[in-house]
Amino acid sequence: MLRNRLICGYCGSPMSAETGTARNGELKRYYKCYGKKRNNGCKKSQIRKELLEQLVVDTTLEVINENTISEIADFILKNHEEKKTENAELNILLKEKSDLQSQIDNVVKAITAGIITLSTKSKLEELEKTLSETNTAIEVLQSKEKIKLTKEDVVKYLNVAIRKEPYQMLRTLLKQVVLYDDKIEIHFNYIKSFNPDDNGQGFLFTTKQKTIKYVILNFPNLQTIRMLIKVYF
Ligand SMILES: [Zn+2]
Repeated sequence: MLRNRLICGYCGSPMSAETGTARNGELKRYYKCYGKKRNNGCKKSQIRKELLEQLVVDTTLEVINENTISEIADFILKNHEEKKTENAELNILLKEKSDLQSQIDNVVKAITAGIITLSTKSKLEELEKTLSETNTAIEVLQSKEKIKLTKEDVVKYLNVAIRKEPYQMLRTLLKQVVLYDDKIEIHFNYIKSFNPDDNGQGFLFTTKQKTIKYVILNFPNLQTIRMLIKVYF
């Protein structure tokens, strides 16, 4: 269920499900940190597959349901608008564009004044090439911003997703799950590939705490762990 979505909070490696043998010989499935498996020094405990998946499914349905979807959509829209107005990357590019333009103007003035050397000419070509690349990058960012996100789209997306079977629901909704031993960060999608290269952390929507009992491999007793759950959209 969490394949390609689950990341170890300690070392950033992916975590994937594996079969292990418990003390009593029973086969159990665990999610294990790939970095730890490769001996990168990570200390992440393994966690029972069923237990983690249940935790994620339960949390998803507690957070996203008929009573909360409208509120979630308002939250997303509000943050989306704020993010647009403070798009730092675009502002940097616009500043660069204006700097390049004034450098080009100066070189052109020099040429007009009769100061023409080979290096002036190659400098001008170089500046014009950079300006053209900067303009392309600006256009890409601006066209992304033009995609209009509406509340109706978000409500519809979430409504359809929570009516699916648990496996399909998680595959649709989960962007990423970051797991620590006592903390889990769940990042949800809110619209179909709205911004595929947006790997941003999203916005913290809610924080919960749950006490779960979990078995760590080679540690047969149930450990009672207080998990801090942070939910992002
Ligand atoms: Zn790790």
